[in-house]
Amino acid sequence: MASQHSETVHTPEKSQRNVLVVGAGPVGLAIALRLALAGIVADVVKKESRLGEEPRAVAYYASALITLDKMGVIPDIEKAGFFFSEGFCWRKLIRNDGQGGYTMGDMIARLSIPRDTKEPHDVGGILYLPQRELTKLLFEKATATGLVTVYFEETLVEIEQNASGVDATTRRGDTETIFQASYLVGADGGQSTTRKLLDIPLKGHSWSEKLISIDLLFEDPNLDTKFPTQFIVHPIYWGIITPFKPVEAGKRTLDRCAISLNPEDQTPPMGGIGLSTGLIDSEALCDILEMVILEGESSDLLDIYANEREKAFQIVVDPQSKQNKLRVQSDPDFAHENWLLRQLNSASPKFLEEIGLPFFQQWRVDMKEIVSHLSYCSFVFPKFIQCHTSPRLSSDCKLIPAII
Ligand SMILES: Cc1cc2nc3c(=O)[nH]c(=O)nc-3n(C[C@H](O)[C@H](O)[C@H](O)COP(=O)(O)OP(=O)(O)OC[C@H]3O[C@@H](n4cnc5c(N)ncnc54)[C@H](O)[C@@H]3O)c2cc1C
Repeated sequence: MASQHSETVHTPEKSQRNVLVVGAGPVGLAIALRLALAGIVADVVKKESRLGEEPRAVAYYASALITLDKMGVIPDIEKAGFFFSEGFCWRKLIRNDGQGGYTMGDMIARLSIPRDTKEPHDVGGILYLPQRELTKLLFEKATATGLVTVYFEETLVEIEQNASGVDATTRRGDTETIFQASYLVGADGGQSTTRKLLDIPLKGHSWSEKLISIDLLFEDPNLDTKFPTQFIVHPIYWGIITPFKPVEAGKRTLDRCAISLNPEDQTPPMGGIGLSTGLIDSEALCDILEMVILEGESSDLLDIYANEREKAFQIVVDPQSKQNKLRVQSDPDFAHENWLLRQLNSASPKFLEEIGLPFFQQWRVDMKEIVSHLSYCSFVFPKFIQCHTSPRLSSDCKLIPAII
């Protein structure tokens, strides 16, 4: 028998400037906070009854820190006792120390994460902050603005676009609520209902390994405290160990271990670039939404956002994630056959800067700068088409990169 649904319509006061965010994970809350800081009202719906506490992300890269800095949360993160390190290392498997205990395996290579010296933000290295703490912090900051309301136990079930924006139906038990908003942002995770309702395919593939995430107390007198994140290189028992607190040699610290368990399940995120990417995406999206909602720019700019972020995924995130995984899933005795691990041990500052560049210039991009260049290019766009369709005019192409 079909259940009876009651229906309510939820229309926030400033409906011409409001955004509905689906998902109150760290990315959804980061978006809500950024929008609120710009004066835009944001409603956030979340299907569970409380904020997520799963043992997931701990470490975030420098580019994501610039995003967090723009939201003004770095001082709160530092006040709460979370910390930054210089980088990470690769090690062989943990081994028996011959005295009834275990010790970390020998170090294979280490990488200092460079700062983006061209950015005014004084952030760099890696930030260590458990995902549930980041989520809580963003929730508190966002709701304190008075412009963000988080509705728990509201599951998105339907989306309808109309002339004035979007009607999104959520369900809580037998009650349905329609949220009316100018724009809807789907930040509802890997199994996104928003994506499915909009019929957007999830392109990609799954690895055949399963990761287990557990928190353990570690103590090692020989630990390199500058590089506390450790990739464990092994063909079967590969993994990543990340501390929750600054490590001290010989002192116990709680660490998160994501370790490969057994073949035959789902794709693991590799190298800590999942949430960092989500945060960087959120910054790009909010830059565009501010231009569209507050400055009256065309909503076509959202297509430019989509192009740029898909490009960043294909050029940086996807290959980095794959190579991070393949690098740790290898024979530690032959690890130096990998070009990166081989070169890192004799790396010059120039080499470190060179491998760091894509993380600052392609992973995180400045949407405002891109849009300003594109507006100028729209004047030359017909010429651009022409020079690509007519071989005789090919020399004109040289003008285009100079303008772009
Ligand atoms: C073991 C592990 C370790 C990781 N380590 C790192 C790391 O060190 N660094 C890093 O950058 N990344 C890491 N990641 C990846 C990171 O955890 C994810 O990228 C991150 O959770 C994505 O956040 P999100 O806000 O996009 O989505 P989620 O955290 O998945 O949140 C989705 C939200 O959407 C809501 N939702 C879903 N469906 C609906 C619906 N129909 N209606 C309403 N609400 C809905 C959920 O309730 C939730 O609030 C790790 C992941 C794992 C599993």
